Order: sequence, then structure tokens, then C-alpha cells
Amino acid sequence: MDIDRGMPDLDALYRDVVLDHFRSPRGRRALAEPTACNEGQNLVCGDHVKVGLKVVDGRVADVEVQGRGCAISTASGSMMADLLPGRTLDEAKRLLEAFKGVMRGEAPPDGVDLGDLDALEGVRKFPVRVKCALLAWATLEDLLKALPPPAAQPAPSQAPPSAAASTTAPPGEAGPLTEAAVLEALRPVVDPEIGLSVVDLGLIYGADVDAAKRHVTVRMTLTTPACPYGPMLFEQVRQAAKRIPGVAEAVVVLVWEPPWDPKTMTSDVAKDAMGIW
Ligand code: ZN
Repeated sequence: MDIDRGMPDLDALYRDVVLDHFRSPRGRRALAEPTACNEGQNLVCGDHVKVGLKVVDGRVADVEVQGRGCAISTASGSMMADLLPGRTLDEAKRLLEAFKGVMRGEAPPDGVDLGDLDALEGVRKFPVRVKCALLAWATLEDLLKALPPPAAQPAPSQAPPSAAASTTAPPGEAGPLTEAAVLEALRPVVDPEIGLSVVDLGLIYGADVDAAKRHVTVRMTLTTPACPYGPMLFEQVRQAAKRIPGVAEAVVVLVWEPPWDPKTMTSDVAKDAMGIW
């Protein structure tokens, strides 16, 4: 295997740091109970990354970074897995903003230590590879945006009894928040490649509903990992789930197990349309 494939001509010292992360990527295992996950891809290079965060009391407790791609994208994701644990979400945001700045040629702000990311500074001389270096971080940025603000996650035991009413759905709007209701709300989202509902196609593997926190986690897959519409579909599914009356926050988790199989499509309409039985 040619480990130099896809590596810009970096300084030798930095090259060792980058290659070390590429050879032994950190954070490469599935989190048991991630708070949120997101996937990103860089179509130019074929890089693909999944980022998962476990957030406890507003701090990153654990990080998962998995995927496949060039040396630069893999190393950058591995460095992220090293750097995030223990940081608050604000600190994580400052770090990613600082790294984006460095990729634009700016010096990192005082007080922000980029750690091993310093070794990727040379990548900015190769604009086409900046996307590789930023892939995991752009994926993290979208994930952070999707996280509810800390104020929206009060510990239930600390809520005074009088606050109980505020956690129920607005009167007259919401039916019971069930998995079936979530799936029904997602039905209008259509896979543009095939022209059929993501629900009918069997791309939605399920939805976990936390009625107390008014939080929905949708598990979905794609027809293929190379699906160019992936990011758009995740966002459409997330928005559709979030529009359900009574839902405060929605997260979409991309899963590849089991792989999508046309035979598992839930709708006869979809099977008819694709001629698959
Ligand atoms: Zn790449």
C-alpha cells in the first residue's frame, strides 16, 4: 500500500506526525451511546467520515471518528479524536474555527492550541486538499449546530414540579410522539435519485423517541455509501422530524448495518416501481 498516496509535499517533520495519525487513527470505534453523529464526504477526493460525540454536562466525553479517505483527511480526523475529549462544546467550536482560519492562512487566536493540527498547516498551500483537512471538522461543525443548547437539557430531577407542564407538547397540536408518528412525518422526504419516499424505500431503520425531552433520533441508511444526495437527505429528514409538533430536537444517525437491501423495502409501491420482489 502506498501510504504517500494523496499526501501533499509537506515538510518532513510534519510528515511523520501526519503519517502516524494516518497509520494509527485515534477514535476509530463505535460509541455505545453517542449524543449525536454526523457523516460527511468530500466528493473531490472520495473521503468519507463519520463523527460521533458523547456529550456529558456540556463537555465532550468521548469522540468517534471513522471513515475512509486519503492520508490528510484520515490524519485530520484522528487529530480531532485526540483533541476534543474534555473540552466544552464552546471550546470545541473555538478549536474548529481556529483550524479553519489556519487553512485560510490566518494565525490561530491567542490561547488556542492546535496540537498536532499544526502539522497540517502546510496543506493550505494545496487548495484542493484543504477540503480533505477540513472534512472531519466541517462534519463536526454541522453536528454541533444540531445539538440542543445546554439550557434545553435540564436534569429532570432538578425541575421544580411547576415546570412539568412546560415539558408537555403544546395543547391542541401534538398527537402522541411515537415512532409511527415520526415515520409518517418522514414519508414526504423523497430520495431524488429514485424518486421514492425514504420511508417506502426502507432507508429509515427506526426512530427513538424520548418523549420527556421531546427528542427524536432517526436511524437511517443510504442506498449506497457513495450517494451524492446523502447530506441533503439527512438534513431533509432531520428538518421533517423537527417539524413534528412537540419535537424540540431531532438527530439523524447514519447506519450501515445492516446494509440497505432493495428487498427490505417496506412499500409494495416502491417494489413495484423498482421491479423488485
Ligand atoms: Zn482527501
